Amino acid sequence: MAIVIVVAAIGLATRGDDAPPAKAAADPVIPTVTAAASDIANQLGPRDQELVGIGAKGVSIHRAGGRRKVVALTFDDGPGKDTASILSILKQNDVPATFFVVGQEVQANPGMVAQEIAQGNQVGIHTWDHADMTKLSPAKQQQEIVDTQNAIINDSGVASRLFRAPYGAVSPSVIAAAEKNKLLSVLWEGDTNDWQRPDANTIVQRVLSQVSPGTIILMHDGGGDRANTVAALPTIIKELKKQGYGFATVGDLVVSDPPTSSDMSVDGKGVSE
Ligand SMILES: [Zn+2]
Repeated sequence: MAIVIVVAAIGLATRGDDAPPAKAAADPVIPTVTAAASDIANQLGPRDQELVGIGAKGVSIHRAGGRRKVVALTFDDGPGKDTASILSILKQNDVPATFFVVGQEVQANPGMVAQEIAQGNQVGIHTWDHADMTKLSPAKQQQEIVDTQNAIINDSGVASRLFRAPYGAVSPSVIAAAEKNKLLSVLWEGDTNDWQRPDANTIVQRVLSQVSPGTIILMHDGGGDRANTVAALPTIIKELKKQGYGFATVGDLVVSDPPTSSDMSVDGKGVSE
């Protein structure tokens, strides 16, 4: 907790470097990535540059191009009490996934993001407190993203390059906020609605009935009891492998199989929920 307070104070202190326009001056605090974290947040590797390049088109993607029989498993709202079980299953099956984490849960579960990344998974930003970003001012949108980026960097030493809006609620201003922070906005195509806690077999069947090459599949490792998702995951992986599918993080999937114009949108349209 002490670290976070220090981080917030540094963010406040460095804000003056970026002279805001007169109108924005009335906003509370526009956080910046902390001095210590900013180098990391601004360092873009080759894959990062490609992801950010796609995001720079002002769009959200909801799937990859479909040229390769590869899918991306994604887990939102963690880390939480079921995250370790999900990581263990992924490791046993040598499958990578992408975790869209909530900043306050990163803070409450230290070491989990570091473990996710160390295991070969990718981590994305899912706001600090699961906010509907479309209802927030630009300053608050910025704070949701930067505070979560800081929490991820503090935990793992690695910056995120992905953003997923809670509820899939995006607008041009939300996408612009992600873009400003060098993040690609990622939605999904295959939705299991596992957060409603259907039984494990139903979750498996929803994945298998919606999957196609390039699908980004939405599940949850936090936000409530995810025992049924944990129970479904080994079968999901086994059945997809049996059908010849490979698995990649969202970043690797998108870079190796770029989305076409019909795989992205400016307002989330086209996302099946
Ligand atoms: Zn969520």
